[in-house]
Amino acid sequence: MKDSKKFGFTTTILHSDRQKSIEHGSLHKPVHTSVAYGYSDARELAAVFQGKKAGYRYGRQGNPTVNALEEKITRMEDGFSTLCFSTGMAAIGALMQGLLRSGDHVISSAFLFGNTNSLWQTVQAQGMAVSFVDATDVANVEQAITPATRMVFVETIANPRTQIADLARIGALCQQRGILYVVDNTITSPYLFRPKSVGASLVVNALTKSIGGHGNALGGSLTDTGLFDWTRYPNIAETYQRFVPQQWGMAQLRAKALRDFGAALGPEAAHHLAVGAETMALRIERQSVSALALATMLAADARVAAVYYPGLSSHPQHNIATELFKAYGGLFSFELKDGIDCFDYLNRLELAIPASNLGDTRTLVIPVAHTIFHEMGPQRRASMGIAESLIRVSVGIEETDDLLQDFTQALRH
Ligand SMILES: *Cc1c(COP(=O)(O)O)cnc(C)c1O
Repeated sequence: MKDSKKFGFTTTILHSDRQKSIEHGSLHKPVHTSVAYGYSDARELAAVFQGKKAGYRYGRQGNPTVNALEEKITRMEDGFSTLCFSTGMAAIGALMQGLLRSGDHVISSAFLFGNTNSLWQTVQAQGMAVSFVDATDVANVEQAITPATRMVFVETIANPRTQIADLARIGALCQQRGILYVVDNTITSPYLFRPKSVGASLVVNALTKSIGGHGNALGGSLTDTGLFDWTRYPNIAETYQRFVPQQWGMAQLRAKALRDFGAALGPEAAHHLAVGAETMALRIERQSVSALALATMLAADARVAAVYYPGLSSHPQHNIATELFKAYGGLFSFELKDGIDCFDYLNRLELAIPASNLGDTRTLVIPVAHTIFHEMGPQRRASMGIAESLIRVSVGIEETDDLLQDFTQALRH
């Protein structure tokens, strides 16, 4: 296994650890729990600290088990390098705190994961300006650019309404203007889509979701695709400019964001996420089949007011999804007709579980406006297209027929 690029997605993940020396022949990268790393020569310790020699210093700044996962994610994204964090939000927070300065301007999609939206509000209070635009049309992004614009941030498929950003055109625009293009790939996952293919500079993955896939470990990552010219980014401190330019961004993120803020991924969690990732392609294939069957069934039912799923030809960005994604994924949302209480419907489901997670093996449902988007208030919800009765479904790997039966029997009452 010399060049991973000629192998398929799952083969590459399964054999990634073997690209390095295998400790004791172990087929899983071992869980290294040591926080400190000892050196018999004190000069070697100093050389590691000064970045002159490869090695580990202290668990907050790097760990062999976490590094093995980082290499796997780099291969999944066909990237240049990856940094892992304790959660997806920690990765997004690191990106904002590690790369933005007061006075900077950011353009973000208005259709966002609720906590990312909340974090942008914090960043605004710290002196950065954020323009929220409808990113399904590149023209809105272009209009919002100012001389202070440092970053464009979008999600591939927005959680929960499934709007799809104008990914390729925004990528071309950012490349042309030299703006950092950050794509949150969580809902698609690197199996369905590689943001590098549309010119993304940095890719966010909430490992908690499809990559880990079993709802048993939190984690997040930032991958540098290697496409961005960091010499054009004004916020890189001089000490990180001693590396080759391709490493500037990640060097600053590792020090200023991971080391200083300290949201390091633990080795046990990294192990869970790495094992989960081995079956990601199989899970997502099944989830995509079931999601399309459920969305199609609900869209044809008179008691359902609307269904949002990129796999339906009625979806406004269906063509973009078909062109860019390997399948349409396991996330969809829908609204019941007036007079049908969404809580009553959810309580009638026997298999699907009311719970807040995505990309799990089990099918999970949540009334969005009353839970994860509650804090936002009705006005901001309306501007994001979130109806009060919206139900988000994260389709699991149960047999498709079992799920169809469950969602149908709950409607019949
Ligand atoms: C869940 C999620 C996150 C945050 O990940 P956590 O691991 O829960 O912190 C970020 N972006 C998207 C699109 C998500 O769905």
